[in-house]
Amino acid sequence: KVVSVTGASGYIASWLVKLLLERGYTVKASVRDPHDKKKTEHLLELDGAKERLQLFKADLLEEGSFDSLVEGSEGVFHTASPFYHNVSDPQAELIDPALKGTLNVLRSCAKVPSIKRVVITSSMAAVAFNGKPLAPDVVVDESWFSDVVVCEKSKLWYMISKTLAEEAAWKFAKENGIDIVTINPGLVIGPLLQPTLNTSVEPVLKLVNGAERFPNTTYRWVDVRDVATAHILAFENASASGRYCLVGRVIHCSDTVNILRDLFPALKLPEECADDKPFTPTYQVSKERAQSLGVKFTPLEVTLKDTVESLKEKNFF
Ligand code: NDP
Repeated sequence: KVVSVTGASGYIASWLVKLLLERGYTVKASVRDPHDKKKTEHLLELDGAKERLQLFKADLLEEGSFDSLVEGSEGVFHTASPFYHNVSDPQAELIDPALKGTLNVLRSCAKVPSIKRVVITSSMAAVAFNGKPLAPDVVVDESWFSDVVVCEKSKLWYMISKTLAEEAAWKFAKENGIDIVTINPGLVIGPLLQPTLNTSVEPVLKLVNGAERFPNTTYRWVDVRDVATAHILAFENASASGRYCLVGRVIHCSDTVNILRDLFPALKLPEECADDKPFTPTYQVSKERAQSLGVKFTPLEVTLKDTVESLKEKNFF
């Protein structure tokens, strides 16, 4: 079976390509620059890559860029979207590639009758930011949608980019009769396949790399291997539909530090919170739909251990 993956060099997509190859798929994978070794070498070294991985050049902002990628595929996994914090022009750097890029990919898919389903990597960023207060008894689920107006007030540009992209995807899919499913992960951590540090693993590196204080924040952690598997299950399971929130555990940073201390007693970890305000509350994220898809969440302790060991092995600290 032939499938396509956009943004294949990314953190999540690299795991997705690895697992797809392991399951015997032929994978057509897009990157922005196929000659950039840092972005492609780890993919070309995967088991099965020689026989069944083909790289394509494509950019989210170039009309028709994904036509040859998706041609002849049964499934398309659209993961490409910029994810970083220090932006100077949010519209050009985050919102346009996310929104226009998603429509660009879907327009290419609409021309290919062999495509049975498009699985889109959305985010909890498109779910949880709607101004409703979060508290330990609140259960966030797939019926929630982030509110762009609320996000604008707090300059949550990445959240806006993912919300607009997902909303546009559902509208386009409905109007053009395309079967889409979205995967909405929380903050993704776990071992890195690519040689560079990505945005969501950075908070873990900061904690283990000599930070004096930990931020007063809660994290919605989920394991990268669970996220990649969920994408595949969402394609393979014909009855999958709609959105799937993927969060293993919502936990305050102080408790994350406690787990890390138990796992790595020799590491110097931050002892104090960065401010003296009350701790940001936790909340729950429904696992029901993800579990109905067959996702088994990796315990956070295992994910954190594997993340830190991977960071160490790759000499990040
Ligand atoms: P990475 O930064 O590792 O990967 C992002 C990918 O998007 C890269 O492959 C990058 O390509 C590609 N990309 C960015 N801009 C463009 C563009 N203009 N044209 C083509 N490709 C582009 O991030 P993640 O793996 O973390 O994220 C992958 C997806 O998962 C994104 O959609 C993100 O929003 C979503 N997500 C991530 C979460 C996380 O915690 N990591 C949580 C929830 C959702 P290049 O290599 O060329 O730069």
